[in-house]
Amino acid sequence: MAYGLLPLVPFLFGFIFLKPKLTLQYRLTVKKYLIYIKELKNGPIEHYLKDVISHKNVIPATIEGSCIKCGNCCLDKKCIFLEQSSENEYICGIYTSPLRRFSNCNSFPLNARDIQRYSCPSFTEVIAEKTENTFVKSEYKTHWIRSVS
Ligand code: SF4
Ligand code: SF4
Repeated sequence: MAYGLLPLVPFLFGFIFLKPKLTLQYRLTVKKYLIYIKELKNGPIEHYLKDVISHKNVIPATIEGSCIKCGNCCLDKKCIFLEQSSENEYICGIYTSPLRRFSNCNSFPLNARDIQRYSCPSFTEVIAEKTENTFVKSEYKTHWIRSVS
């Protein structure tokens, strides 16, 4: 399925995410898509099924930090939608897309395993006494790469 649609991906993504660049740069988009699919199989799908679905819209109270936009957790900077905004910073090219809500993207990091997996330089797991409310409401949008406005 993921590979069957390959020739159409630059057109579909360009249209769905309102990113004509993805269509115009056809060859580059195909190349990035193949890398993207490979990386998705390398942990994010499992993470989504195991961690994200049951914990959406909450962040563990034991995780502290703020995003410095290094791009590591965007599939090791291999996400097809990641864009470099400065020498050391990256932004999500589809940050405002409603479809992004159905992905892993607003749920990093949920645990120490997440932090280690992508070598996140800014979030840390803190040892906290377990309370009844181990999970707290959080403004997820504040800790993850957003588009430049
Ligand atoms: S959450 Fe961490 S790994 Fe992801 S971009 Fe921010 S600083 Fe980098
Ligand atoms: S936040 Fe954007 S760039 Fe990062 S993994 Fe998600 S879709 Fe890709």
